[in-house]
Amino acid sequence: MTLRDHTDALGDTSLTADVIIVGSGPGGASVARVLAEGGVKVLMLEEGPARPKFRPNFANAQRYHMQENGAIVAQGLGSFVPVAAGRGVGGGTLVNSAMCWRTPDYVLEKWTKLLGVDHFSPTAMGPIFDEIEEIIQVVDTPEAIAGENNKLIVRGATKLGLETGFIRRNTPTCVGCCMCMMGCPSGGKASVDRNLVPMAREHGTVVQGDVKVEGILVEDDRVVGVRGTVYHPDTREVVGHLEARAHAVILSAGAIGTPRLLALDGLASRLGPAVGTGLHLHPGSAVVGICEHEVNMWRGATQAAYFKDKALPGVLPHTIASEPGHILMIFNKVGHEAKALMPKLPYMCGIGVMISDKSQGTVGARSDGRSKVTYHWDEGDVERLKAGMVRSAEVLMAGGAVEIASPVGGMGTYTDLDRYAADLATRPIRDFGLYSAHPMATCRMGTDPATSVIDPYGKAHAIDGLYIADASVFPTSLGVNPQLTTMAIATALARQMLAKGLPEAAPIR
Ligand SMILES: Cc1cc2nc3c(=O)[nH]c(=O)nc-3n(C[C@H](O)[C@H](O)[C@H](O)COP(=O)(O)OP(=O)(O)OC[C@H]3O[C@@H](n4cnc5c(N)ncnc54)[C@H](O)[C@@H]3O)c2cc1C
Ligand code: SF4
Repeated sequence: MTLRDHTDALGDTSLTADVIIVGSGPGGASVARVLAEGGVKVLMLEEGPARPKFRPNFANAQRYHMQENGAIVAQGLGSFVPVAAGRGVGGGTLVNSAMCWRTPDYVLEKWTKLLGVDHFSPTAMGPIFDEIEEIIQVVDTPEAIAGENNKLIVRGATKLGLETGFIRRNTPTCVGCCMCMMGCPSGGKASVDRNLVPMAREHGTVVQGDVKVEGILVEDDRVVGVRGTVYHPDTREVVGHLEARAHAVILSAGAIGTPRLLALDGLASRLGPAVGTGLHLHPGSAVVGICEHEVNMWRGATQAAYFKDKALPGVLPHTIASEPGHILMIFNKVGHEAKALMPKLPYMCGIGVMISDKSQGTVGARSDGRSKVTYHWDEGDVERLKAGMVRSAEVLMAGGAVEIASPVGGMGTYTDLDRYAADLATRPIRDFGLYSAHPMATCRMGTDPATSVIDPYGKAHAIDGLYIADASVFPTSLGVNPQLTTMAIATALARQMLAKGLPEAAPIR
C-alpha cells in the first residue's frame, strides 16, 4: 500500500516495475487497477500532489489541482479558450463536477467501425460500464440536494416539453455544497483517488506523487522507462530527480499532458504525424438567467441538471454554478460595474452550453515546458453553440428567470428573447467567453499510423514498449462529459494489454 510523495524521492531516486503509468486520472487509475489485479507490478508517477490539498476557493484549486495553474489557453480565430485539466493523484476527478454519462451507443458503434475491432462495441462495453459505475458509486442526484439552480432547469425544460432530468454522478454521500470544482471537502464525491487508485495499491501498485515525467527512455529501439523531476508541492523547488525502468510505459497524462510530454521529449516526431493533432474540446459558453426569487447558485449539487432538444443534435446544455467572485470574473466586471452586479448575484441561475465539436486543434509544447494549444472553429459548431444558447435562454425563462445575459462582448441583459437571439447572431466567436474542461482525441487510436498514434489495443504503432490510455485516445469527439468513457475505454484497453501480453522480454537494467 505504498503512496509516496516528494519526501520519498529526495535527491536521485531509481525505481523499477513491470509497467510504469504516467498520470493518475481516470485513464491511469483504471489501467493500474486492471493490471495490478492481473498480477502486474505497477509504478504510477503523478506530477501533482499525492494527497488532495483542497481549500474552498478556485485559486487554491488552480494552484494545486489544475495543470499549468489552470492557465492553459487554446488560441484560435482571435479567441482564447481556457482549457481546464486536473492534477494530483486522482487527476481531473479531484476537481470535476462528477457528472457521469455512458458513451452513447452511436459513438461506440462509430468507433467499432473505424477501428475494426469488437471490444468497444456497446455489447462489450455494457458490462464494463456496470462494473465502473459500481466501483465509483454512480448514483442518481436526489432532489433534496439538487438546489434551485438545477431544479429551475428541469422545471423550465419540462414546461417546454424537452427531455430533461437530474444527472447521475459519482457522489454517493454528496451534501450539495457546490464545491466540486475546488475539491470535495466532505468526501461526498467518489473521485478515483478514493476507489480505483486504492484498489490498484491493494494489489501492490506503488504511487509516487510530485514527480513530473519529462523524458522517455528509449534503448535498442524500445521504450524502457522514464525520467522525471521531483518538485516540492508548495514551493515548486526541485528536490530530486527520478529514473524509473520497466518493460512497458503507459502514458495516461491526459489529452493535454500526453502529447505535451511526447513533444517535449522529442519522441513525438518518431511516433508519426498524428501526435497532438485532432484536439477536440467540447467548447461551451454560458447563459445566465436573473430571477425574481433567490436561487443562490452556489448552493446545491454543482452541476446536476441537463436538457436535450432533438432539433439540436450534439448540443448538451447543463447547469453551471459558481461562487460570486467567479461570476464577476466570467462577466468581466470590476469597479462600479461589479458593484452594480453584486445585488443580482443571489438571483442568478445558469446553463453551460457544451457542443460535440467538429472543430479541431493541436497540442504541442513550448520551450518552457508548458503546452501550446491551438483550436480552429468550424462555422457549423459556432451556429450550433448559438442555437443551444438561445434554447437555454428559453429554458431559463420558462423555469422562472425574467432576464438573460451571456458573457459575450457587446451584449447586455435581455428580457426579450428575440432580441437576445438577434444580438447573439451578430456576435463573432472571438467575442464569446468560452470554456473547456474536456480536451480529448490528441493521440488517437486507429489502424493507420498516418492518422493515429496507437492501435486499438493501446500500443504505439511506431515503437515497442509504449502504450497510451487516457482521453487522448478517443478516435472522435464524444458529445458527453468524458470521465466515465475515459475509465471504461482505459479498462477495456488494459484488458486487451493483459490478453495480448505486455512485453517482458527486455531485462530491466
Ligand atoms: C473542472 C473540471 C470539471 C469537469 N467536470 C466533469 C464532469 O462533471 N464529468 C465528466 O465526465 N468529466 C468532467 N471533466 C473532465 C474529466 O475530468 C476528464 O475528461 C478526465 O479527468 C480525463 O481523464 P484522463 O485520465 O485522460 O486525464 P486527467 O484526469 O487529466 O489525468 C492526467 C493526470 O496526469 C498527470 N500528468 C500530466 N502530465 C504529467 C507528467 N508529465 N508527469 C506526471 N504526471 C503528469 C496530471 O497531473 C493528471 O493528474 C471535468 C474536468 C475538469 C478539469
Ligand atoms: S456538491 Fe459538495 S458534497 Fe457534493 S460532491 Fe460536490 S463538493 Fe462534494
